[in-house]
Amino acid sequence: MGHIGIRDLEVFAHHGVYPEETENGQMFYVSADLYLDTWDAEHTDDLNTSVNYGTVCEYIKDVMTRRNYRLIERAAGEICEDLMINFPKLNKVRVELYKPEAPIPIPFGTVYVEACREWQDVYIGIGSNMGDKEANIRSAIRLLSETQGIQVEKVSTLIQTEPYGYREQDEFLNGCLKLRTWLPPEVLLKRMQEIELLLHRERKIHWGPRTIDLDMLLYGEEIIHTKDLCVPHPDMINRRFVLEPLDEIAGWSWHPAEKKTIHQLREALNKKEAIES
Ligand code: AMP
Repeated sequence: MGHIGIRDLEVFAHHGVYPEETENGQMFYVSADLYLDTWDAEHTDDLNTSVNYGTVCEYIKDVMTRRNYRLIERAAGEICEDLMINFPKLNKVRVELYKPEAPIPIPFGTVYVEACREWQDVYIGIGSNMGDKEANIRSAIRLLSETQGIQVEKVSTLIQTEPYGYREQDEFLNGCLKLRTWLPPEVLLKRMQEIELLLHRERKIHWGPRTIDLDMLLYGEEIIHTKDLCVPHPDMINRRFVLEPLDEIAGWSWHPAEKKTIHQLREALNKKEAIES
């Protein structure tokens, strides 16, 4: 991955908690690190294969001046997200926002905050067994793709499957999605749960009927074990209705705990099921 750096872009703006800061304004300095593949730019000398740092500076100035933020954290986050949306070649953006005239009654050098956004490849399992199952799944996909910081890149074939766990219920329709997201894992989980609620998911019986079920299967190659989130999803290696659609869109993806590709995990499950039957 290549890197373009911008240092100390001067922008006069009106951010701050105190009224005199929003009234009088002050000078801010922005440094940005833009991460992208610069191989083609290095070999073709063509600006279209890179990002124009002059245009990036104009976007930064625009974010800094179109609104007044109380917090420089917020302004730095907005700059990152604006650049990630408007420059699709960027894989990652890191911004430092300096406020050397901050209202601090003791002599100081400067105050600054840092914000960062990076695209991650994430796989989600999706399922429904109530109402119009396909419509439920399409609505969840639409809500995910309308979320700032989430792009739905691939949708697997949807497959009919027998109920899992609690068996006295209708068949499921299951599939997998590939997302590109800059949302951190816990923020993404929260958004997935909001979407489940928006689509009136009922949680009366464990493993029981549900209008929509969203499971985070893989988040890059991260291994996460917290109270609310286990990634890779602990049950995915035993579930045909996960591995089959996931193999279709992510056969070469790596399961960081099992140390196997998704395709290898699906073959292992095939063998296990053949022995058991
Ligand atoms: P479920 O009823 O199967 O959708 O499970 C939802 C619960 O599992 C929630 O309380 C989540 O916090 C928790 N959970 C743990 N790991 C995951 C994951 N990888 N994806 C989705 N939910 C998870």
